[in-house]
Amino acid sequence: MLVSPGATGEIYLMNFRYKKNDTCRMCGSSDLSLVLDLGDQPPSNAFVKTEDIPTEQSFPLRLFRCRSCGSSQLLDVVNAQDVFDDYYYLSSTSGALRNHFQGLVDGLLSDYSPNENSVIVDVGANDGIMLDRYPKDRFRLVGVEPSSAGQYAEQKGHIIVKDFFGQEVGRRIKEEYGPVALVTATNVCAHVDDMVNFMSGFAEMLDDDGLAVFECSYLPDMMEGVYFDTIYHEHLCYHGLTPLKALLRRVGLRAVKAERISFGASGPALRLTVALERSGRKEGASVQSMLDAEAAWGLMSDAPYDRFAEKVESATRELRETVAKQKESGNRIGVFTAPAKGNTLLNSARFTSEDLEAVAENNALKCGKLTPGSHIPVISDEEFLGRKFDMALLLSWNYADFFVSNSDFVKQGGRFIVPLPRPVIRP
Ligand SMILES: [Zn+2]
Repeated sequence: MLVSPGATGEIYLMNFRYKKNDTCRMCGSSDLSLVLDLGDQPPSNAFVKTEDIPTEQSFPLRLFRCRSCGSSQLLDVVNAQDVFDDYYYLSSTSGALRNHFQGLVDGLLSDYSPNENSVIVDVGANDGIMLDRYPKDRFRLVGVEPSSAGQYAEQKGHIIVKDFFGQEVGRRIKEEYGPVALVTATNVCAHVDDMVNFMSGFAEMLDDDGLAVFECSYLPDMMEGVYFDTIYHEHLCYHGLTPLKALLRRVGLRAVKAERISFGASGPALRLTVALERSGRKEGASVQSMLDAEAAWGLMSDAPYDRFAEKVESATRELRETVAKQKESGNRIGVFTAPAKGNTLLNSARFTSEDLEAVAENNALKCGKLTPGSHIPVISDEEFLGRKFDMALLLSWNYADFFVSNSDFVKQGGRFIVPLPRPVIRP
């Protein structure tokens, strides 16, 4: 059985809390303008049963930008009351992710050589995948993980603080374990509503010459590459360095290094290294050069956002046309994989089970249900192969090379519609 390298396993029950922010979560300004309106959509992991359709909840999915600090964000904040907790995605199952984090840890240890017994923290520790990358018994390792995935890290002997990270948790970690020499937070920043409180937590616990390293997807890349399907309710922020730097300064932190890194098939990302403002660490040249590049790109102007909205509009239109044309030629079309982001694509293009008959997915919790909003039946990979579709819309399109080379669907003659940045048919 193929496991998508980017698969997630979290699934929601119904019942959501909703609130609408009216100020920027990075700088507090109310000078916000709409970039992209994807309509009302259900939360991306809220797979439904047929009998749940009448009570299915949808919420506005709209990207705004702050004209004061340049941040892009959702103001409509949706929280699941009941997240199905028994099947969390465990990061360690991904070899690509293990290798990526090993490279990050090796680089940090060789660049900054923290002392023996230094306190090292990973925020968003998941099953301990990052903490496992450090040499055993040399440092005091602490993870922060609010979800049940943290119990797997504990089983491996790691200390886990079971909480959402923020100022109070940062203070508690410093009190209990001491000032922190090194802290990592990868793929966390997009999910945070109260960014001021979150960043304050790092300022609270860092040692005077300690460092925090963040990795998150990078706004200009998302917009130029048209990865608009990464916009869903869980992803509240789409970060650029300009607004981040202003926020860091507000809480007493300083950006010392900014890098664009390639993270396998997930594409480029931002890696930002941060220190306390009162530390002796200086802002490196990489920070100013990324700020200059963002200014040249037009982060504070309308142009890139208008261009992005136009590209999203034409990508969804072309995708609908591609599917319609293939159906007219007599091809039966399904959908391959059901990642959270796929639902943004299905709903933005207004696909239904009339267009796309079924979705192949190996997460048993999604099978037997319908995709949120578009209501396409989710079936197992085996059943999907048995139904001999001619084509499949590939929702994990960022792993297209992997699926084209490895999937049984292609081996039995199927072809993929790879939807973004513009639809193409492979092989
Ligand atoms: Zn702002």
